[in-house]
Amino acid sequence: MRILLVGAGLSGAVIGRALAEAGHDCRIIDARPHIAGNCHTERDAETGVMMHVYGPHIFHTDDEGVWNYVNRFARFLPFQNRVKTTAQGRVYSLPVNLLTINQFFGTTLRPEEARALIESKADTTITDPQTFEEQALRFVGPELYEAFFKGYTEKQWGCSPTELPASILKRLPVRFNYDDNYFFHRFQGMPQDGYSAMVAAILDHPRITVDLDTLYHPDMAAQADHVFWSGPLDGYFDYRLGRLGYRTLDFERFTHQGDYQGCAVMNYGDREVPYTRITEHKHFSPWESHEGSVCYREYARAAEPGDTPYYPIRLVEEKALLEQYIDLARATPGVTFVGRLGTYRYLDMDVTIREAMDTAQAFSQGPTPAFLRDPL
Ligand SMILES: Cc1cc2nc3c(=O)[nH]c(=O)nc-3n(C[C@H](O)[C@H](O)[C@H](O)COP(=O)(O)OP(=O)(O)OC[C@H]3O[C@@H](n4cnc5c(N)ncnc54)[C@H](O)[C@@H]3O)c2cc1C
Repeated sequence: MRILLVGAGLSGAVIGRALAEAGHDCRIIDARPHIAGNCHTERDAETGVMMHVYGPHIFHTDDEGVWNYVNRFARFLPFQNRVKTTAQGRVYSLPVNLLTINQFFGTTLRPEEARALIESKADTTITDPQTFEEQALRFVGPELYEAFFKGYTEKQWGCSPTELPASILKRLPVRFNYDDNYFFHRFQGMPQDGYSAMVAAILDHPRITVDLDTLYHPDMAAQADHVFWSGPLDGYFDYRLGRLGYRTLDFERFTHQGDYQGCAVMNYGDREVPYTRITEHKHFSPWESHEGSVCYREYARAAEPGDTPYYPIRLVEEKALLEQYIDLARATPGVTFVGRLGTYRYLDMDVTIREAMDTAQAFSQGPTPAFLRDPL
C-alpha cells in the first residue's frame, strides 16, 4: 500500500519503518526543516555541543522491547538525570529526597525520622484532596510545598495550583532515601550521536521517502491508501471547533566559557524568577569535552496560534473540546491519529515508540481505527 505519514518525529519514523519492512511504500512529510520532531538534536555551530533543540530529552524506560528497538538504531551511553533546584536562596537536590529534607530543615534525620517529620507537617484535615495545592499540603506540608512545588507549578502551568487537579502531583512526591535519580526506570541512557541520528537510522529504508519543509495538504491523502497523522489533532480539522490548549516554551540561549552550572538541569522554584529552569546542554553528553557551553533559560506560557505546542493542558474545558475532536476523528475513515499531538497526550519517548510499534502491528492485522488507545 501507499502510506502517508504526517510528521517525521518518533511516531512517524517508527510506524514508517515497520510498514516499510512489511513491504508498504511510505512517504513521510514534515513541516519542519529537520527530522526527529521535538527530540531533534543538532551540534551547536559555535561550541560544538550537542543541543536538545526543543528542550532536554532523557531516554528512560522499563519496556525491554523498546530498549532493544532504540539500541538497534543508536549506541546508547549511560546517563542518569540528577536535577538540582535553586529555591529561597539555596541549592537543593531533586526530586525531594532525604538529602533535600535534611538540607532544608537543617537536620540529620534518618529515613523513618524524616517520614515522621513530614507526616507531622502534613495537613491531615484534608481527607480527599481535590486540587494540586490540597494534595501537596496533605502529603508534604506547607514548607516543602512553598519551596519546591508552588512557584514552579505556577510558572509551568500559568495558573494557581488551586486550579489544577490533584492528579498532577503524585500521591507522595518525596523519597525517604538519598536516591536522586530522577527516573525509576531500569533502562536509561542517551544516544551517543543524538536523537536525530537515531531517527535518521530508523528512516533509512529503501521504501521510505522523507519530504521536509512540507506542510500537509488534503490532496496528499488522496494519493495514499492510509494516513498516519502525528500533527495536532485539532490541526487536522483546521481548528474548526476551536483550539485545544497547550503550554509552549521559549528558550533564551546564552553561551559561557567553561562550566556554567555544573549540572544538566537546574530548576528555579521561586515565583520571582521568571524562568522555570536552565539546561546546560553539554552535560547531556558527559563523554564529550567542550570548552564552550550553551545554556537555555526556559520560560513557559500559553501557546498562541503559530507557537510550537509542547504540553497538552487537559483541564476540564480542553477535555470537553477533545471529546468533540475525537468524535470527528472517529468519523474520518482512512486516518489514524498517533503520537503526542495526534492524541493530545503527554507521552514520553518510550511510550511514543511502544504505541507506534503497536499501531504498525495493528495495521498489519486489519483496518486500523482512528486511535489505537482511547485518548481520553
Ligand atoms: C519540553 C519537552 C521535554 C521532553 N523531555 C522528554 C524526556 O526527557 N524523555 C522522554 O522520554 N520524553 C520527553 N519528551 C516527550 C517527547 O518529546 C515525545 O515523546 C516525542 O517527541 C513524541 O514524538 P511524536 O512523533 O509523537 O511527536 P513530535 O516529535 O512532535 O513530531 C510531530 C511532527 O509532526 C510535524 N507536523 C505537525 N503538523 C504537521 C503538518 N500539518 N504537516 C507536516 N508536518 C506536521 C511536526 O513538525 C513534528 O515534527 C519531552 C517533551 C517535551 C515537550
